[in-house]
Amino acid sequence: MIDIQLSPHFMLSELLASPTATANGFTEQFEPTEQITSNLTALATNVLEPVRELIGMPLIVSSGYRCHRLNTHVGGEWNSQHLCEGGAAAADIESPGLTVEELYDKIKASSIPCDEVIIETNNKGAWWVHVSYDSNKGTQRGVCMKGVLQQSGGTICQADGYQAWVNS
Ligand SMILES: [Zn+2]
Repeated sequence: MIDIQLSPHFMLSELLASPTATANGFTEQFEPTEQITSNLTALATNVLEPVRELIGMPLIVSSGYRCHRLNTHVGGEWNSQHLCEGGAAAADIESPGLTVEELYDKIKASSIPCDEVIIETNNKGAWWVHVSYDSNKGTQRGVCMKGVLQQSGGTICQADGYQAWVNS
């Protein structure tokens, strides 16, 4: 794969990286179409760079694009924006200097146009912030949601309003 710079601080390889895809031989994960690369560029430019500037610290992308086999393997939603279909793209992010809650709150309170901002969790107790962007939408939705652990062990995603700029 020829790596390219999507934006000043984000490389294509960071948005494709997946030890799970590598381990399972999902080679298409590392052969994105031009459309997918374009969607990831829009995400990096419109969301990831502004978030990095907002918090003044590096961002770690734990999951960006997911090919269909990877998305199925990790139990992603069938219409996950991680699939980069249409004009969409999503990334799961963390910052070493902030808690997941702090990162989420800062993005929610900002005017950075995200389609979704979600605190996501898995059943192993890991948490992260999911952000997405859809180039096909003139206006991003700014939908905010929080994953909540259930006593049964699973998680549900609860609505948490909208980003500050949506209603202003
Ligand atoms: Zn996600």
